Amino acid sequence: MGYVKALRCRECSREYPVEPIYVCEFCFGPLEVVYDYSGISKVLDRKTIEGREKNLWRYRELLPIDGEPRVGLSSGFTPLLKADNLAKVLGVRELFIKDDTVMHPTLSFKDRVVSVALTKAMEFGFDTVACASTGNLAHSVSALGARSGLNRFVFIPASLEQSKITASIVYSPNLIAVDGNYDDVNRLCSEIANKYKWAFVNINIRPYYAEGSKTLGFEILEQLGWTAPDNVVIPCASGSLLTKIWKSFKEAKMIGLLDGLETKVFAAQATGCSPIVTAIKQGVDVIRPVKPDTLAKSLAIGNPADGFYAGAIVRETGGAGEDVSDLELIEAIKLLAATEGVFAETAGGVTLAATKKLIAAGKIDRDSRTVVCITGNGLKTAEALAGHTASVHRIKPNLASFEDVLNAIGR
Ligand SMILES: *Cc1c(COP(=O)(O)O)cnc(C)c1O
Ligand SMILES: [Zn+2]
Repeated sequence: MGYVKALRCRECSREYPVEPIYVCEFCFGPLEVVYDYSGISKVLDRKTIEGREKNLWRYRELLPIDGEPRVGLSSGFTPLLKADNLAKVLGVRELFIKDDTVMHPTLSFKDRVVSVALTKAMEFGFDTVACASTGNLAHSVSALGARSGLNRFVFIPASLEQSKITASIVYSPNLIAVDGNYDDVNRLCSEIANKYKWAFVNINIRPYYAEGSKTLGFEILEQLGWTAPDNVVIPCASGSLLTKIWKSFKEAKMIGLLDGLETKVFAAQATGCSPIVTAIKQGVDVIRPVKPDTLAKSLAIGNPADGFYAGAIVRETGGAGEDVSDLELIEAIKLLAATEGVFAETAGGVTLAATKKLIAAGKIDRDSRTVVCITGNGLKTAEALAGHTASVHRIKPNLASFEDVLNAIGR
């Protein structure tokens, strides 16, 4: 049995039944899942969670499903690495990397949201799932949808990196490359969703889908021994992940999994697509849409659906926003790899580079505990590093040739 009571409009609080809908008929506000928290707090405590399988469904009472989980039974519970080498380089006391680069099966945090969305879509009786994607969502819907035996329509901007296209098409979805940017793709998909009875995970299933991001937050709390970090740095595309990590912290506090909560929430974006961070920096709540121009394609949403709410959370918690150039994100990818042995995609480079700037600017206190959310794997965007890595040592197959190299590097 599930604990979802209804959907509720974030703007006018009108309630709706649990159906594949996402927008308020009266004010066009986004709909959000409402739970019976007093019921949940009676059945869910730290011990119960700790006794469960190490996957994202260990927090299932706080996820919007009625029956049993059907997808993602090996997804979630990714490592929280104590990053001491990196902490030393950045000059902070305690730094953790929440490492979703190793997420099963498609190596980004999107497997969290898609596991929840597909389970819900099957509960609703859909046989076809779809999405508008900047890349990672396409991988996840293609892969988890294949395993679930669902028909899949996956829409991406035609400009996507070749490696990201391959990592979708290999699962044999119907892959549709649209001439336009993500915002064009999304607009087209909203039209298609109105006409065809498909479960678009990030359109008509969005209220349920988005809840899956909370599992990243619950895991951080559990892996820190049920305490909250002083700071959490989160990459923003639509802003949904940021709002849901904060929601997970508040829910954990509300149902007694967490005692204190004083976390500052920080938003990271690429300078070439930073509508949320720009609004935060200017101290305004209106998000002005932009045309994305950045290497960080997985964050390239110029008109972010949850940008307003993400900005409000950053402000309310005393956090800040920071944006970084393509060169800064590339340097950060290399820094993370060289210090902690983690290869992040461009979004991870954005998050770490932003963290570095926030520390340097004194917005993240050097004597505090910070979690940096690394949300996708570097093998997905390896092209981004072309021309930016050290060169390999090319030698003849003999010892003398090898020893020339040793001499050259001074060993
Ligand atoms: C989708 C995505 C995000 C953030 O997405 P939101 O739309 O803000 O929830 C962050 N990192 C990666 C790698 C992503 O694919
Ligand atoms: Zn409303």
